[in-house]
Amino acid sequence: MLGKDAAEQEEMLLVHELAHWYIGGVGEQLPLILEEGVADMVTGEVLPEWSLSIRALHAHFLRQIQSLPDPAAVFRIQDSSAWKGRSETEARALRAMGYALATRIGLDGLRELCAEARARGLAHIPPERLFERVRIDPLRLEDWTALVEFPPDFPGSPVVRAPDSLPPGKCLKITFYGADGSVLRTTLIPVFGSCQVPRGTSRQLLEIVDCPANAESAAGKR
Ligand SMILES: [Zn+2]
Repeated sequence: MLGKDAAEQEEMLLVHELAHWYIGGVGEQLPLILEEGVADMVTGEVLPEWSLSIRALHAHFLRQIQSLPDPAAVFRIQDSSAWKGRSETEARALRAMGYALATRIGLDGLRELCAEARARGLAHIPPERLFERVRIDPLRLEDWTALVEFPPDFPGSPVVRAPDSLPPGKCLKITFYGADGSVLRTTLIPVFGSCQVPRGTSRQLLEIVDCPANAESAAGKR
């Protein structure tokens, strides 16, 4: 996964499993899929060198969702049937949804929600409380993808962003190369700006050039 070696991956998985144990202290009222997300979030905090990879992976799979499962139903499942009969991509997308909620609500918020569920005599936090808390319409795909941003310029990220400023009239020219060295696409973006990275890009060249007269239309999609 994402260019780390086997020993590093093993360490990451170990921390993930330890995180499950640690999460017991957050509250037993976490829905199963959310608990997976919390474990991934905690892993990223314990192993900072993994946190961007974990975020990029979840951002990626959230964007692979073709049609949403019923989120309220999915966040009510408390056994392995949550994953049963799903494709790898679907299962990873579900996990990404758990991660999205976990990172937005945070450990303190989750503790609060667990305590609230406990006080109401509920076995688990009702999914509606989670969606309300992060203020999303769970049936809108865009609401989910907005919860986990791609780390900008992370290898494999579909978006490259120009976050700084350039002298007026200057634009960023980006040339994307495939693994065989062929040019996949050349694009000009204003700064601030962003554009999609073509599939198959293995490296990119950035140059500062004069903006074309009509910078708007030459700019990549935002
Ligand atoms: Zn796990």
